[in-house]
Amino acid sequence: MIPVTKTFLPPIEEYTAQVQRAYDNHWLTNRGELVKELEAKLMTYLGVNNVLIMNNGTIPLQIALKLLGNGGEVITTPFSYVATTAAIVWENCTPVFVDIHPEYLTIDETKIEAAITEKTTCILATHVFGNPCNIEVIDAIARKYNLKVIYDAAHCFGVTYQGKSIFDYGDVSTCSFHATKLFHTGEGGAIFCNDPELFNKIFYSHNFGHNGPLDFHGLGINAKISELQAAMGLAVFPYMEDIILSRQKVVSFYNQNLDFAKILKLKLREDTKWNYSYYPVIFQTEHSLLKVQAALIATEVFPRRYFYPSLNTINYTNGAAMPISEKIASIILCLPLYVGIEEDKLKQIVSIINTEAC
Ligand SMILES: *Cc1c(COP(=O)(O)O)cnc(C)c1O
Repeated sequence: MIPVTKTFLPPIEEYTAQVQRAYDNHWLTNRGELVKELEAKLMTYLGVNNVLIMNNGTIPLQIALKLLGNGGEVITTPFSYVATTAAIVWENCTPVFVDIHPEYLTIDETKIEAAITEKTTCILATHVFGNPCNIEVIDAIARKYNLKVIYDAAHCFGVTYQGKSIFDYGDVSTCSFHATKLFHTGEGGAIFCNDPELFNKIFYSHNFGHNGPLDFHGLGINAKISELQAAMGLAVFPYMEDIILSRQKVVSFYNQNLDFAKILKLKLREDTKWNYSYYPVIFQTEHSLLKVQAALIATEVFPRRYFYPSLNTINYTNGAAMPISEKIASIILCLPLYVGIEEDKLKQIVSIINTEAC
């Protein structure tokens, strides 16, 4: 069976050696030594000067929206994982969708201004499959209308844009360390924020608002990651270069062997150092996608329709039509991509796609 992705697991001795440290410290949560060490390693590796790791990649979006959304309208993309939209609704803000660029698949920055109203507080955009949004234009719009920018950078571990970490852009940027993501802690995530005052609020918010055992700085929730999750992160971390290199080889294989007469691949924004996180292919029709998917499944290969459906069609959103996002969601398929996928399987996948795509 070939799944769309397979979690990278470090040698178990290396994981248990990290867990042993938590045992030795008799300390399992509340920002212990392992969490702090993982944060320090991530800052160096990513080239950022702040990070706060959390228990998943959705809660940082919620905390950012709680602090910046003010229950207003949040301009967002319909082409993302459901967490992006759900976080907006969950925090009592209103998602206002703006359609996507048909090739980059990120929010179409030229359509943002038309969606701004007096109630707009934030722009929440996703760097889709690690492909950066048009950051310059979004930034300029945000400044002009005094809006905050939150980037869902769940897919972006290790991505740089114009020579610096993608996490450095926006008022707030978030990442997911879920087991299906490039770097993982089983469940986990992170938030990045260059404004010290806002970062401080985020920090308090993620730990019930605690300011010492007896005082409270303000309203908070529990978004803490445990030492046991950090142990997995510390065990995976030394392999990041190998993981990215090995995925790069799979991506090159697809690039060199797929026949792009009837399918398209992701168009990366210029000046991006990408992380090989996903391999989406875009078919000409949903019929072609379904035909290829069925042929792959018949040989025990399970690609994933991702992202599907377009988020504006979910029953708790406002439902305004987003023709490009709806179209792309119906014709995009992510191919298997993970460390250790065998070359004969890749050949089999490519051959099926090249024959069946129509
Ligand atoms: C994975 C993902 C999330 C959610 O992250 P979790 O760690 O699973 O909570 C949010 N947004 C996008 C785009 C994702 O892919």
